[in-house]
Amino acid sequence: MTTLNFSCLDDYDPDSLHVDRARRIMLDMLPAVSGHECVFVRQALGRVLAEDVISPVDVPAHDNSAMDGWALRSADLAAEGETRLKNIGTAFAGRAFEGKVSRGETVRIMTGAVLPAGVDCVVVQEVSRVEGDTVIVPPGQRADQNIRRAGEDLKAGKPAIAAGKLLRPAELGIIASLGIAEVSVRRRVRVALFSTGDELCSIGTPLFPGAVYDSNRYTLWGMLTRLGCDVIDMGVVKDEPAALEAAFREAANCADVIVTSGGVSVGEADFIKQLMQKLGEVAFWKIAMKPGRPMAFGRINAGRIQPDGESKPGAWLFGLPGNPVAVMVTFYQFARPALLKLMGLDPVPEFPTFPARCVEDIKKGKGRTEFQRGILFQENGEWCVRPTGHQGSGVLSSMAKADCFIVLEHERGKVSAGETVQVQLMTGLV
Ligand code: AMP
Ligand code: MG
Repeated sequence: MTTLNFSCLDDYDPDSLHVDRARRIMLDMLPAVSGHECVFVRQALGRVLAEDVISPVDVPAHDNSAMDGWALRSADLAAEGETRLKNIGTAFAGRAFEGKVSRGETVRIMTGAVLPAGVDCVVVQEVSRVEGDTVIVPPGQRADQNIRRAGEDLKAGKPAIAAGKLLRPAELGIIASLGIAEVSVRRRVRVALFSTGDELCSIGTPLFPGAVYDSNRYTLWGMLTRLGCDVIDMGVVKDEPAALEAAFREAANCADVIVTSGGVSVGEADFIKQLMQKLGEVAFWKIAMKPGRPMAFGRINAGRIQPDGESKPGAWLFGLPGNPVAVMVTFYQFARPALLKLMGLDPVPEFPTFPARCVEDIKKGKGRTEFQRGILFQENGEWCVRPTGHQGSGVLSSMAKADCFIVLEHERGKVSAGETVQVQLMTGLV
């Protein structure tokens, strides 16, 4: 069991933690999960590469033509004016011209065809003229033009893709271009998920008076599934010590990570916090942000020997707030990068922000980071953003309407219409 020592961190105030600081603490504490598996190329999409892919071959394997045109020796090019050459054959992609191109000769060449011996220049067909057996190329051609050299994309023996890379369609293509059928990827991160609250009702059951349907488990399930985690849905757990303790123990025994929602706000019964602390090492943070101020982060011990005699080290805990928008914002800002680190991404990429012109006033106090929900649009060729309307932390429709977060920095005060703000696209984040 790792010992978490939050108090020795520099610049650490759990009652007013800067967003960037909270994210950094998590990223620094979390290791990548161990365990690899071998999968076929298509199954590797969205997974994290566990070992470097070393190129067994040069890509391209041969010097070849980048264009349809005429292959020639640059030494034959006239110092001034046109050059006249004799056409002696054709080189196709996949069917090489076997002969040698000698002084004063040229070969018709197709894109991707292996460069015939002696050739070091390709002139595109559009600028050339043919008169019977003679090919006439205009002045201004250079050695090496329109040629793709062997190994210019990937060199044999060198890493083509480094471990820690998230495999996207481009990487699948590279793996295939090397003739490789299977790669080693990190195993998926297992995440146990439950909602806490006496007021929560599961869908499919009638709402009792004062109850709300549990929506967090669905947004969280969606976000975790999109990230490529294995999700273990443990349902709703009542605010009862025995039920919560059993749920935490079970989750710590079967998962790498536990994600909960609710139970960490100031108004909550203190026993939930005491319980989390009893079961492991958990810090309760008030993050200087809106929405999503309260959050718990730490570890829950497994507390029981596994059937195979191995003692499981427990699981990381992200205790997210209860309000539906706060859940999503804290997930994207903290749990997402933390999970990417656990998945083995190296480095964990920063999610970029872009400037846009805000077309409405926004109220904002200095001293906290705010994540308003916004809608992007273009006006006179410029990207503009408008808040989605009511920004309460329980108003989930503000997330559904939005296509970006408007990120208002910690030190920033109110925004007047026309000012530039930073936005974070939801595409790629969600
Ligand atoms: P809490 O953080 O537990 O005090 O919850 C804050 C607010 O979020 C309350 O209004 C809860 O009813 C609401 N809430 C908590 N959990 C959920 C959930 N799983 N789905 C929808 N709303 C929730
Ligand atoms: Mg609650």
